[in-house]
Amino acid sequence: MTSEFDLIRRHFARPAAASGRARLGIGDDAALLRAPAGAELAVTTDTLLEGTHFLRGTHPGRLGHKALAVNLSDLAAMGAVPRYALLALTLPKADTRWLTAFSEGFFRLARRYGVELVGGDTTRGPLSITVTAIGEVPAGKALRRDGAQAGDDIWVTGTLGDAAMGLAALQGHIRLTGRARQHCVECLEMPQPRVVVGRALRGVASAAIDLSDGLLADLGHLCERSKLTAEVWLDCVPRPDEISACRTTAVARHMLLAGGDDYELAFTAPPRMRAKVERAGFGNGVMVTRVGTLKRGSARVRVYEGSTLVRMPRGGYDHFR
Ligand code: ADP
Ligand code: MG
Repeated sequence: MTSEFDLIRRHFARPAAASGRARLGIGDDAALLRAPAGAELAVTTDTLLEGTHFLRGTHPGRLGHKALAVNLSDLAAMGAVPRYALLALTLPKADTRWLTAFSEGFFRLARRYGVELVGGDTTRGPLSITVTAIGEVPAGKALRRDGAQAGDDIWVTGTLGDAAMGLAALQGHIRLTGRARQHCVECLEMPQPRVVVGRALRGVASAAIDLSDGLLADLGHLCERSKLTAEVWLDCVPRPDEISACRTTAVARHMLLAGGDDYELAFTAPPRMRAKVERAGFGNGVMVTRVGTLKRGSARVRVYEGSTLVRMPRGGYDHFR
């Protein structure tokens, strides 16, 4: 029988890297982190729950990746550089193969962005994974939801709807095969947080949010915080080729605008920043697309196809609705 402490030592306690920043990591009652001069800490947490955020039987390596990725995506949306993570795991049993794969997926992504795992908690119960991530951003320079101005452009990174199509395919709602299916499922299970682009948008974007619940819902949050109306041009919203697998326009629109799990960034910037926005995106190998503009008016999102207002059901995932 593996004890809780063996489990932590075996799978999660790593010798501090030479570049380690934490004064004290795993093993004491709390981690000790240095607060950098002139910087603010960006702190965020997200839970992945079996049955709600991932399907039973999802590969544990992909869960390890995603649990960290969704948190790094939040830091990216703030323009913060990720530094530390905490991991609270609830497991039905201490399954060594599962834990080995999980920690490999987690640490592969952590290494890529120089993130140190400095603590956590381990308990027994229905599978649930909570990661807390901590990043740094120069004081006053974080990208917030409330900084947008009327007249600003609205941009998104990457393509939208890929992950929602992956989920729909796994659930048998749409038919996807071969490479198309593989691509969409990978987008769902292995989202790539836009950390580098988020950082490059500091001083360029006026507001930002990451897309976890669909463009309509998340852009709606940005509009609420900035007290503006978003006008989105449907034809401009970047979509994957796989979108053609949707049998009706309504389904395709849903994937594109209301599907969850994109983990792309939506952000706003004044028109004079267009060249800089493109450099922040394409210069870092990430497509950025202008999809709309902000107007004065009450906080809402309006979608146009050509000059026609498109009626959309209130989109976005809400756990309590
Ligand atoms: P305490 O009982 O004092 O809260 P624990 O016995 O829960 O401490 O944990 C011992 C050490 O291992 C602590 O430093 C804690 O942060 C760390 N830890 C526990 N679980 C995890 C985990 N899943 N991943 C990383 N570190 C963990
Ligand atoms: Mg203690």
